[in-house]
Amino acid sequence: MMQSEQFLGIGMTSQRTRERLVQRLLERGISDRRVLESMRSVPRHLFVDEALSSRAYEDTALPIGSGQTISQPYVVARMTEAVLQCRPRKVLEVGTGCGYQTAVLASLGLEVFSIERIGALYEKARRNLSRVKLSHVRLRHGDGYQGWKAQAPFDAILVAAAPEELPEALLQQLAEGGCLIIPVGGGGGQQLLKVTRQGEQFNQEVLEMVSFVPMLSGAPR
Ligand code: SAH
Repeated sequence: MMQSEQFLGIGMTSQRTRERLVQRLLERGISDRRVLESMRSVPRHLFVDEALSSRAYEDTALPIGSGQTISQPYVVARMTEAVLQCRPRKVLEVGTGCGYQTAVLASLGLEVFSIERIGALYEKARRNLSRVKLSHVRLRHGDGYQGWKAQAPFDAILVAAAPEELPEALLQQLAEGGCLIIPVGGGGGQQLLKVTRQGEQFNQEVLEMVSFVPMLSGAPR
């Protein structure tokens, strides 16, 4: 335990509350051991503002600034589990936010490329990831609706914001057999979809109902 953590009294607490979170994920049906281990080991409290760090291991989304949120741990675990089912090596993430989901993917040994549209969050993710020594991921400030053509194809693409329709550019950047995990729909709720590419065929499966911030397209800010 780091001395500063001990001083703040969050060292042991976070150990225990992390374990409680893993229990909850198990109860909610997350069964992939690699995902559970990653959720246990990645320090979510380092990705949220200090004032919120005591709530970091609750299974809820929390504000990260710029009107955005760090995703709920259950949703991160669920999406990561779906990504792993595609047996990926190279993954694109759209919507880096604070970098927590990015860290979970990187901790699983995947090669991660991640795009964030809001400059302040792109900078925040860069700082957070270097603090947890996962700075080898490739981050980019830009519009993820267009994907990352120069690095395509990807074995899996994970999107953390909801467009109204499937973005064609992302479908085209999937490798053969690759999958896109994405919330789709506007307004009240969205469907979390898993879209698998077979040649020019894209097979859709609904994983569950979710609630993400809307995906915005156009010039980054
Ligand atoms: N997994 C992130 C989720 C952040 S919320 C985390 O846990 O922190 C979704 C993020 O998607 C926001 O940061 C938002 O700015 C970003 N976003 C929305 N539309 C985007 C787009 N077109 N390209 C890239 N990022 C986008």
